[in-house]
Amino acid sequence: MNNLDQKTNHLLLLFPDNPSEKKVLSLTESIYSVGRHSDSTIKLNSSSISRHHATLIRKDLGETENIYILIDGDLKGQRSQNGILVNGKKTIHHRLEDGDVIIFGENEHKAIYKQENNLEKIKVDSLSNLSSEKLIKNIDSSSKISRERLQDTLVISEENLQENLTNKDINRLASFPELSPNPILEFDFDGNITYTNPAANLCFSDFLTTSTNSNPLIAGLSDKPTDSSGGLIIREIKIEDRYFEQYVHYLSKQNVIRTYIFDITERKNSEEKLKYQAFHDTLTGIPNRDFFYWKLAKFLQKRQKNKEKLAVLFIDIDRFKNINETLNHTTGDKLLESFAQRLTSCLPSYCFLSRWGGDEFTLIIPLDENLLTAKNIAEIIINSLKNPFLIAKYTIYVTCSIGIATYPDDGLEEKQLIKNADIALFRAKQMGKNNFQFYTTQLSQEQMLLFELENGLYNALENHELFLNFQPQFNLKTNMMSGVEVLLRWLHPTLGAISPAKFIPLAEETGLIISIGEWVLEKACMEGKKWQDLGYLPLLIAVNVSGKQFQQENFIEQVKYILNKTKFDPNYLEIEITETILMQDVEKTDLIIRELSALGVKFSLDDFGTGYSSLSYLKKFPFDTIKIDQSFVRDLDVNKQDQALVSAVITLAKGYNMKVVAEGVETENQKSLLKKLNCDIIQGWLVSKPLKQGDFSNFLTKYTKDIQFDIRSFNQSL
Ligand code: C2E
Ligand code: CA
Ligand code: CA
Repeated sequence: MNNLDQKTNHLLLLFPDNPSEKKVLSLTESIYSVGRHSDSTIKLNSSSISRHHATLIRKDLGETENIYILIDGDLKGQRSQNGILVNGKKTIHHRLEDGDVIIFGENEHKAIYKQENNLEKIKVDSLSNLSSEKLIKNIDSSSKISRERLQDTLVISEENLQENLTNKDINRLASFPELSPNPILEFDFDGNITYTNPAANLCFSDFLTTSTNSNPLIAGLSDKPTDSSGGLIIREIKIEDRYFEQYVHYLSKQNVIRTYIFDITERKNSEEKLKYQAFHDTLTGIPNRDFFYWKLAKFLQKRQKNKEKLAVLFIDIDRFKNINETLNHTTGDKLLESFAQRLTSCLPSYCFLSRWGGDEFTLIIPLDENLLTAKNIAEIIINSLKNPFLIAKYTIYVTCSIGIATYPDDGLEEKQLIKNADIALFRAKQMGKNNFQFYTTQLSQEQMLLFELENGLYNALENHELFLNFQPQFNLKTNMMSGVEVLLRWLHPTLGAISPAKFIPLAEETGLIISIGEWVLEKACMEGKKWQDLGYLPLLIAVNVSGKQFQQENFIEQVKYILNKTKFDPNYLEIEITETILMQDVEKTDLIIRELSALGVKFSLDDFGTGYSSLSYLKKFPFDTIKIDQSFVRDLDVNKQDQALVSAVITLAKGYNMKVVAEGVETENQKSLLKKLNCDIIQGWLVSKPLKQGDFSNFLTKYTKDIQFDIRSFNQSL
C-alpha cells in the first residue's frame, strides 16, 4: 500500500443507477482500472460500461503533492466503447480537478471527483444527500486474500483463564455438561478417558473405547508440556471428513484434561471454498492474480536463499479483442478456458501458470541447469498453439506474444519482475506478435519514451503544439507550381520536433488520429480558402488521411462539413490515402471515393509500390493521382529495375487518365529522368523542403506576382 497523501485527499464519489451501490472511494493507489471486468479495481456494472472502460493514474508532483489523470480505456490504447464525459465534454485524457463531474458510458454511472484537505468537511458538504454511503478509505487489493485462520495453538495461563475465557458458552457448558449439545470429553494425563457427556457419546461412539494416542481426540494432548498451573489450548482436529475445534482445559491439580468440542465442518468448508475462490480464476479454474503474487513471493524467498534463478513470463493472446467482438463473448470465454487448458497440459509441472486478467496469463518458471530454459518453455507455448481451437462451430487459430523477465537480472522484487515482463511483452507485440522477447533495459527507455509521447499527444492539439508544413509540387509540363502537400508537424515542449513517422502510428493506435486528422483537414482547407481569396494561382491542396480516420463511420460527413464550414472549393482538395487503407475495406473505400469525387474532391494513391495492391486496383478505383514512392525515385539514375517500374506505372496511369507525382526528388538527374519518362509532377527537396505556413504564404505572394520567381532561391534565403 502506498502511504496516504497527508495533504490532499482525492475522493471519487460514485453514483450508479442503482442507489444502493453508491460509494465514496478515497483514491490512494497509483493506478485504478475502472470497468466491467472482474479484475477492475473500481468495478462498474452495466452494459454500457466496457470491460476496461477507464484508467485513473496518479501523478506524483512532489513528496506529498499528487494529481489524478483519467484516461479513456486501458493503458494499451484500447478505448472504451461508449466513452467518458467530463463536465459534459467527451474526453480521452483529463487531469482531474476538484468538482469534476464524470459520466462513464451511457449516463448510468456518474462520479464526482473531489479534492479536499478535510474528509469530515466533505462528508458534510457534499455528501449530505448521500446518507448511506460507506467511507472506504482504501481499496486494498490484498484484502481479497482471506486471512488465514489462526491455527497455532493458543496457550493462556490459568490465572488469566478466568478473565480471558469470555466465551459464555464454555462457562455455561462447564456448569451443565449433561445438557450441552456439544461433546465434552475428559481424560487423565495418561490418556485414559474419565468422562464423556451424552453429546460426546453420540458423536464419537467409535473413539470412546480407544484411549491414548491412537485416539484423535486425545492424541498429542497428554504430552503437551504445561506449566504447573495448567492452561488452555484451542486446536483444530479433523476426523474423517469433519472438522472440530477443541478447547482443551488442563486442570493439573485434579489430574484432568477437560475438552469441549465444536463441530466446525460447515464453517471450515465454506472457508475452504472461499479460499479456493479467492485464489482461483472462476472462468478458467487456474490460479488467479492474487495466487500468482503469493506464489511468486514464496518462490523468490526460496530462490534468494538458494541463489537460484527464476523467470516470469507474461503471455497475451494476440488479437483476442477481435475474436471476442466478431464471435461473441461466450465464444471468447470458451477460448480463454481452452487456452488455459492447452497451456496447462503442455507445461512442465514445476511451472506455475495463472490468469492475470482478460486475455493475459502469467507464468513462473524456476530456472535450473537440469530444467528447461525460459526460451524452451516460451517455444513450447508458441508451438502448442499451432493446432486450432475448436469451439462451438468455429475453428479458431490463435497466436500469443510473450514477454520474459528473469530474477535476479531483471528485478529482485515481484513488482519489478512483473513490470519488466510486461515491458518485454509490449516489445513482442511491437515486433509483430506471435513471438517472445526478453526484457532489456533499452526496452524500458524506449517504452518510457513512447509513454511520454503518447501522454504528450493527448494534449498536443489543445496546447497548440501541432502545426502544418507545406511542400510545393512542381509540374514538369507547365513548369509551374501545381499543388502543395500538407505535412503535419509536432513540436513537443521538452522533446522537440517529433517525426510524423513516429507520432502518426501512436495517434492511430490511441484513436487520437481522428481528432488530429479532422483538425489537419480543417486547417488545410482554411489556409487554402485564404490563398484562393487572395487570388493566388489555383493550387491543389493535398492532405494525408490515415486509415482509422478514413474508415470512421462519418468520414464523408466530416469532409462535407469542413468544406461547408471553410467554404473551400472541393475541386482543389486532394485526399491522399495509402494502398493499405484501400485494402482494408475495398467496398467502403470505393463508396467513399465515389461519393466525395462526385463533389469534386480528388484522390491520390500515396506511397505507390510499397503496399500490397496490384496494378489492377488502379482500374477499380477512380484515383486522380498516383504518387510514386520515394524508394523508387532514390536510385532511379542507377537502378534500371526502378526505371522500368516507374516507366510502367506512368504508362499505365496515363491509360487510366491519372496524373503521376514522383516523391522525394532530390537531384537534377532524377528530375530529368522523370521528365523523360513522362512524369507529370515532382515533389521533393530539389524543388523545396516542406515550408512553414508563413514562409509558404510569403513565397506564394511573390510567386503569384512573378511566376518566374524561383522557389529554390527562396528556399536558400530561408
Ligand atoms: P508521406 O505522405 O509519404 O510524405 C512525404 C514525406 O517525404 C514527408 O515526410 C516529407 O517531408 C518527405 N520528403 C519530401 N521531399 C523529400 C525529399 O526530397 N527527400 C526526402 N528524404 N524526404 C522528402 P514527413 O513530413 O516526415 O512525413 C512522414 C509521413 O507522415 C508522411 O509520409 C505521411 O504518411 C505522414 N503524415 C504527415 N502528415 C500527415 C497528416 O497530416 N496526416 C496523416 N495521416 N499522416 C501524415
Ligand atoms: Ca503523402
Ligand atoms: Ca508518400
